[in-house]
Amino acid sequence: MILRKTKIVATLGPASSSEEMIARLITAGVDVVRLNFSHGSAQDHIKRAEIVRKIAAKLNRPIGVLCDLQGPKIRIGKFELGKITLKTGDLFVLDADCALGNQYQVGLDYKDLPQQVSADTLLLLDDGRIELKVDCVRGNQIHCVVMTDGVLSNNKGINLQGGGLSADALTDKDIEDIKTAVALEADYIAISFPRDEKDVLLAKSLVKKAGGTASIIAKIERAEAIDNLEAIIHASDAIMVARGDLGVEVGDAAVPGLQKRMIRMARAQNKLVITATQMMESMINSPIPTRAEVSDVANAVLDGTDAVMLSAETAAGQYPIQTVLAVHRVCIEAEKEYESLHHANRRPQRLQQTDEAIAAAAIFTAQSFNVKVIAALTQSGNAAQWLSRADSSIPIYALSPDKVARRKLTLHRNVFPYPIEQSSKNRDEILREMEQVLLNNNAVQAGDTVLLTFGEPIGSPGGTNTLKIIKIGEHRAT
Ligand code: PGA
Ligand code: MN
Repeated sequence: MILRKTKIVATLGPASSSEEMIARLITAGVDVVRLNFSHGSAQDHIKRAEIVRKIAAKLNRPIGVLCDLQGPKIRIGKFELGKITLKTGDLFVLDADCALGNQYQVGLDYKDLPQQVSADTLLLLDDGRIELKVDCVRGNQIHCVVMTDGVLSNNKGINLQGGGLSADALTDKDIEDIKTAVALEADYIAISFPRDEKDVLLAKSLVKKAGGTASIIAKIERAEAIDNLEAIIHASDAIMVARGDLGVEVGDAAVPGLQKRMIRMARAQNKLVITATQMMESMINSPIPTRAEVSDVANAVLDGTDAVMLSAETAAGQYPIQTVLAVHRVCIEAEKEYESLHHANRRPQRLQQTDEAIAAAAIFTAQSFNVKVIAALTQSGNAAQWLSRADSSIPIYALSPDKVARRKLTLHRNVFPYPIEQSSKNRDEILREMEQVLLNNNAVQAGDTVLLTFGEPIGSPGGTNTLKIIKIGEHRAT
């Protein structure tokens, strides 16, 4: 069996809410499900999370749940006829007071927008499909000239080219949704449009106040966030390269370079990174991807992403299962090339912490010695996170007694979480139990060499400080 190291995050939606579809998605390879709070009710998300947990238990596999908050996405209102067609040169008004739109005007859900734009500001609607140039602002009305033709339908998003909108990253709806996410025991909560680390820290404190343990993902999708990347990454557990909105704010051409920079920076800080949006976009309506999409997924893998994310492909597309299977095979193929690329480029680095040093020693040994797997005994998952950052072709089995830690580890590249009971306090028995978990899950066979990492004294919580080499099936006094 070939293990896929890059993880797959799939958004659930109308096309993937039944128990049958969710089971098929997970069986096809989904590691983490995303509940998108921009759509659907709290009840929908709670229901979906319940189904996911039920199926995960049935399949005996940990599945992460990621709740993605809507954030201050600015949207136009609705039209009398649902949509209109705009022609270049048309005059069009965004009016904060307009209730129902028509050919000449439409409402806004963010009443302060007129105060934040001025003549010549470029507004990009529907992920940049429609461009409006501000002519003038009169009270609550923004008078615009249409720069590109297109159909504009209800509730499409608005971005400001170059960024600069001052809306808070956490809206009242987000603050309510954090409570829902905590109630459904989210493993990850993603915040949309953070500007700086303060937005991330606020989300963290709200999650804590609600009694949650979710890790925080900062979606990098505002131009300002790029200037504050180092600090945002530091404050977060993970980032998302949110290419949809980011591409509108900074221009599509800047996104591939920024993706590489973000992945590199996240990994350097021992943080996780998800690459998102339009990865297999054409598969919404087609059973096979384009060559460009295959290259895009493969390139994210080669950049070193932990996970790739599917949005409408699995939430609303016609071919959710085919999409997951396509991502699965593309990742596996790209990972072969990644290993040769990265091993050649490895540079020695200064190690700061004991668990980091053990991880580096384990990886060095694994690469130069014939090792089948690395098995990390970990309470919180930290040890496995270090090993994952160290880039190796050797699979990392994270053995943890903690169910929440195991669910979080579903997002980490090249980490495969499994339960361990640690039923005894005896060191040798726990080490033997580690061996047994690997055997039971077909990770190893008798005679295989395995690296074990753990913290001594074993059984009491504390950092990883020990690396041990064993041969499976050869028990000797330790
Ligand atoms: P969204 O975020 O799908 O919630 O907008 C991802 C992105 O903008 O790429
Ligand atoms: Mn977005």
